Amino acid sequence: MKDFNTVWATRGDWFNSDGQEQSIKDYLRLADQLVWKRQLSYCVAAILALFYIDPIVILAFYSAVALIELLDMALARKHLGWDGEDPVVGGKILKRITINTGLSAITISAFIVGTAVQQTSSGHLTPSFLLLCASIFAAMYNSQMIGILLLRLSIYGLAFLFIAFLDVFRYFPPLNSPIWLEFFTIIFVLYFICDISAKFYLSYQERLEQIQLIKQENERAKAALEVKSQFLATVSHELRTPLTSIMGSLDLVNSGVLGEVPEKLKHVIGIAAKNGHRLANLIDDLLDLQKIEAGEIVFHFKPLNANELVDEAVESTTGYAGKLGIQVTTIHCEEDCRFLGDRSRLIQVMNNLLSNALKFSHERGTVRVRVEALGTRIRISVHDEGVGIPKDAKDRVFGKFSQVDSSDVRKVGGTGLGLNISKQIVERHNGTIDYVSELGVGSTFSIEFDRMTD
Ligand code: ADP
Repeated sequence: MKDFNTVWATRGDWFNSDGQEQSIKDYLRLADQLVWKRQLSYCVAAILALFYIDPIVILAFYSAVALIELLDMALARKHLGWDGEDPVVGGKILKRITINTGLSAITISAFIVGTAVQQTSSGHLTPSFLLLCASIFAAMYNSQMIGILLLRLSIYGLAFLFIAFLDVFRYFPPLNSPIWLEFFTIIFVLYFICDISAKFYLSYQERLEQIQLIKQENERAKAALEVKSQFLATVSHELRTPLTSIMGSLDLVNSGVLGEVPEKLKHVIGIAAKNGHRLANLIDDLLDLQKIEAGEIVFHFKPLNANELVDEAVESTTGYAGKLGIQVTTIHCEEDCRFLGDRSRLIQVMNNLLSNALKFSHERGTVRVRVEALGTRIRISVHDEGVGIPKDAKDRVFGKFSQVDSSDVRKVGGTGLGLNISKQIVERHNGTIDYVSELGVGSTFSIEFDRMTD
């Protein structure tokens, strides 16, 4: 025979539904949040009743209700982190919630009915009001699970009916007696409770459906993003491989190893090689971006000397700077300027900053690179006297595929990805990247890292 938990867990397939898991989680969360609020109301009700009812009886009922509340709290705390995966655990939780609800509703009803029985005159206003409060509380806070709500409300409903019939059976009054008026009032209140419970339950279900929709949309968006990333990675790879061989062949032709290249052909091959390099840069950037976003790039952090890093980067751009007739000067850090970083990735960042500074500079301008220690930080800045960047363009400067000037007016090439990649690399080093710039005067891009202290 299946044990009780498994039967609960496998009733229908409701445990496979996100909505039911969510209902249990919401119930547990609220049970935990509201435990002290409920304790306070019981405590106030008990103190009030102390003046009119036997203190021993009050104490007994209050202790029983408080104990059940604590059991509910313990259950909620134990399972707050439940991932909703295991249906057997779900069954266990539901069983405990059902038992606690039954016990709590019976104890509260018994106490209220007991109060009503002791009252022999002037109606049952207090017990009826207490029951009304308990029912509204249940409607408001137990609306996550219809079964649990119905269980609690049925017990309260029986208590209500008991109180309604109590004086009718006690006195068999004539129909114009206030006892019948109280009876019909209680029946009306019962209808009212059913109505508001249904409203709370339906609005909770609506909210649940909306959450499910948002979750599904989120899953769909994630899946689409995953497909897009894979597509991008595959296409970039497939483009990179033949491009490498095309570039190799062009270089071979250009070098003259295959024979003298006619003057007319040299120009055309030059254009092909230039555009080939642009395409290769774009593909490399795309591959880098995709890898960084997918978290596939492994950073190898080692102690680096900022002066050496800068020298290496400046050295590698000497050819490009020379071609543009731009002088690059470096001011080194005088102190110990070591920090933890991935050398090749940071060279990539420095190359990006330097090549931007060079390509946006005016002919025969100057680019100044500076390494300095600022307390616990190291700053590397690249300053140019070039075209500058307009105000409020930060999003475009660090955005993906975005460039500050529109492509039809720009004179220099680029993908609009370099600074976005650089930002992600710097941030993976717990560093920052920023710039100050004035249109027509120049720009200073700087990156900062934590200095090594030992
Ligand atoms: P790109 O490949 O277009 O250079 P980046 O991401 O490196 O892409 O730069 C984004 C944009 O930021 C550039 O297109 C340019 O408009 C602007 N920018 C970057 N560095 C400078 C600079 N030193 N001076 C002026 N504008 C710059």
